[in-house]
Amino acid sequence: MSDTTHTAGSGPAAGASGRARILTGDTPTSTGLHLGHYVGSLENRLALQGSYDCYFLIANVHAFTTLAEKPAEIRANTVGIVKDWLAVGLDPERSTFVLQSEIPAIAELTFLFAMLLPFNKVMRNPTLKTEIEAKQLGDTYPFGFPMYAVGQCADILAFRPELVPVGEDQEAHIEMCRDVALKFNQMYCGVGNRVPAEEHARAGGLFPVPRAKIGRVARLPGLDGVNKMSKSLGNAIFLYDDAKTVQKKLNKITTGRQSPTEPGDVNNVLMKFVDAFIERGRAEEIKRRYAAGDNLGDGHVKQELGEAINALLEPMRQRRSRLEGPEGEAMVHEVIRRGVKKANAVAEETLFLAKKAMGLDFGRRTIG
Ligand code: AMP
Repeated sequence: MSDTTHTAGSGPAAGASGRARILTGDTPTSTGLHLGHYVGSLENRLALQGSYDCYFLIANVHAFTTLAEKPAEIRANTVGIVKDWLAVGLDPERSTFVLQSEIPAIAELTFLFAMLLPFNKVMRNPTLKTEIEAKQLGDTYPFGFPMYAVGQCADILAFRPELVPVGEDQEAHIEMCRDVALKFNQMYCGVGNRVPAEEHARAGGLFPVPRAKIGRVARLPGLDGVNKMSKSLGNAIFLYDDAKTVQKKLNKITTGRQSPTEPGDVNNVLMKFVDAFIERGRAEEIKRRYAAGDNLGDGHVKQELGEAINALLEPMRQRRSRLEGPEGEAMVHEVIRRGVKKANAVAEETLFLAKKAMGLDFGRRTIG
């Protein structure tokens, strides 16, 4: 038997601290994270990092699905994401930062999990379809593009988390991941078909069936008011934007409203931002006056919004400025090195247990 304290079917995985696990992450396909990432997922990560054993993954291999010809960009973006995380307040002393490309168990689990998902089901995944449209990938995307949805199941399940804090756009992926966990537990761990998802780990399943935890704002629209805020659509306010840039971007929002006395639409993009970033009592007052055409102009609202967003971003900018230069770079690399070591210990254990459940346990390797 292995030297592990878990066996396949020994119940939900928990860190050394006994706390339940969380896994979530970001893909380094742009220079930094934006406000959509913040309200969709980062905010929850901050709230939960004290009470859960947290794993935050940088999906740098998945970045190659759309940026294969730009490896230097992916590398720089990877460093940028770690800096953003540190700037936001994610704490590598309490949480583990996971660099996907350095965790071989994830790649191996991807292949094994690919056998549990019908091809057509993957291809019908609505998140993939939306991405293909939004990024105008046509039918020229690589085989690896739909494959990343399977890979994401492995990213998550390698850490056997209970919760996955994400924005609404990820729900379909989490659903697929739940399907894989259910099927694996039923097929290889003897869990009965009628056992409810939340009982799987207790019933002997290797994988707890993880739940999505959707952010306070499930889907923050972009400044264009059409698409979700997205790093690749030019409609984002980045966490590293300076105060002037933030205000300039907000000033470009169009609502079609002509004057401060014209009753405004409380569901327009400007009001969605008010809801997301201005304190609740004041936001309600703004919306009431806006709807009534009570002499509240778009310009004034944008100014107030700018102040609120800049107040949120300023401490992040300050923390980020301390990460500039070679020292900052060295710190990022050290954080990655330590995270990879911890993450490999967990993911290797999961892979070993999965292979054991599948009758593939012919040896156990050690990754240093
Ligand atoms: P991505 O960078 O696309 O890999 O997304 C990283 C995380 O941020 C995922 O949990 C997304 O659901 C979340 N996210 C990205 N954009 C938005 C948005 N506009 N609104 C809410 N959540 C978002």
